[in-house]
Amino acid sequence: MADTEKSDIIIQNPYGPTYWFGKMSFCPKCGSGLSRRRLESEDRDRLVCGSCQFILYENPKVVAGVLPIKSGGIVLLRRGIQPRIGTWTFPSGFMELNESAEEAAVRETKEETNLEVANLKLLNVYSRVTAGIVVVVYTADVLGGVPSLGHETLEIAEFSPSQIPWSELAFDTTKWAIEEWHRRLKG
Ligand SMILES: [Zn+2]
Repeated sequence: MADTEKSDIIIQNPYGPTYWFGKMSFCPKCGSGLSRRRLESEDRDRLVCGSCQFILYENPKVVAGVLPIKSGGIVLLRRGIQPRIGTWTFPSGFMELNESAEEAAVRETKEETNLEVANLKLLNVYSRVTAGIVVVVYTADVLGGVPSLGHETLEIAEFSPSQIPWSELAFDTTKWAIEEWHRRLKG
């Protein structure tokens, strides 16, 4: 996408994991000042260290999540933290460096709901451009675990396909993924 208006990197969500994009002042390698400039080898401005020439690339972060399937419906949780506190979403979180997307999705589901899921199938990959994140969403079967609230969760509930709380979903990606699951049920 050749959209010049995005070249200044605008991350709109003040709570987002990438809100600091464009605001970094110091080199993470040597501590000298960073400045945004155009290098000959690059097609856009980059944050470059004036001392060691380190280039701080600002790239989206990856979130992995699961639509846990149970009795033909899905398990959702009500968020206990910002952003969008009080709204419903599926278990998800940021990938760590030492794990695969599937492992991250299973881990986050366990952490946020105490449910054990398996048989992961990729539902889709969604880009939230203004938040600077990419969300990888799987469907998975709930195999075990008694639901219990994680420290970031207010409530956990099962929803049949006709009971989805559409007006109280947390993010665009929450809506897109559940819509996609919904469409596939009908297809
Ligand atoms: Zn440096």
